Amino acid sequence: MSDLIHKNVIIIGSGPAGLTAAIYAARANLSPVIFEGDQPGGQLTTTNDVENYPGFEDGITGPDLMDVMRKQAVRFGAEAKFEYVTKVDFSATPHHVWVGNKEYTADTVIIATGASAKYLGLPSEEKLKGFGVSACATCDGFFYRDKEVFVVGGGDSALEEAGFLTKFASKVYLIHRRDEFRGSKIMRKRVLDNPKVEVLWNTTIDTVLGEPAQGGVVGAILKDTVTGETREQAVDGIFMAIGHKPNTEVFKDFLKTDDTGYLITKPDSTATDIPGVFAAGDVRDHVYRQAITAAGNGCMAALEAERYITEKEG
Ligand code: NAP
Repeated sequence: MSDLIHKNVIIIGSGPAGLTAAIYAARANLSPVIFEGDQPGGQLTTTNDVENYPGFEDGITGPDLMDVMRKQAVRFGAEAKFEYVTKVDFSATPHHVWVGNKEYTADTVIIATGASAKYLGLPSEEKLKGFGVSACATCDGFFYRDKEVFVVGGGDSALEEAGFLTKFASKVYLIHRRDEFRGSKIMRKRVLDNPKVEVLWNTTIDTVLGEPAQGGVVGAILKDTVTGETREQAVDGIFMAIGHKPNTEVFKDFLKTDDTGYLITKPDSTATDIPGVFAAGDVRDHVYRQAITAAGNGCMAALEAERYITEKEG
């Protein structure tokens, strides 16, 4: 007897893209299974208040938003499994997906594994994630009205986030490890012309200061990358903008990615080059990276998967 379990739709990832795909696929009677991965709910579960997701006038916490999305998907017949996909084979149909030793086949696979913000990797930073250390200015900038913040990075993301944060913060210190930005000329000029931004060149963060139980971040120990000297500076929040890494490792033998590792889909579509395999959300989007755009993309993927199955059944 075969251990193979066949599904109409397998959804890999459980952020807004994956769960929205699950809601739509479940409502189309496709009984999707969602492999939630090692961070059920995705990046939003590391965010406190979400105030820009339409429909929640008073805001909602990231974990609560993902919880209601999951419940909504399950209510219509989606199966959510706290399991991590370890291997895939998209070389023939049906497609194969493994969770450890367990093997599944599927007519369609929706990849919604998201992207992970890069962090510096400091224990002090890890401890204060969600307590003043953030990697999303759009999500958390609003909480720093009239406060002082650090933005770390020298690429377009850091330049953009520094500018965005000046709408709220009284002062933005842009911390860059070199003496020249990687970001584009126009963005560099915009930041350098902004009187609320001060660039701290040749600087890195050595230690983030503060305790989660005592109000979170209070400052950081900064290190000069040329002289090695350290000094302390007080701030209320620290925004990491040193890049994102799309979670595509398990698919790399089958799917095309761009230079920065994001999955490539067809224009105005979530279809990849492989029939029946779709990609939605941050794993294919390095531009918008919002919960609402990921959710919209998840909806598209489910509709496209449904259409693919219907056409195949003829
Ligand atoms: P990025 O271009 O890779 O820049 C990352 C920055 O973080 C670099 O300046 C890098 O320093 C710094 N960094 C990396 N690791 C670090 C570490 N461990 N410690 C300290 N600093 C570190 O990433 P991105 O800014 O997120 O941009 C990604 C892509 O999206 C780019 O192609 C960008 O043009 C695009 N993007 C475009 C826009 C826009 O056009 N509006 C906005 C955002 C992003 P070094 O420079 O020293 O390597």
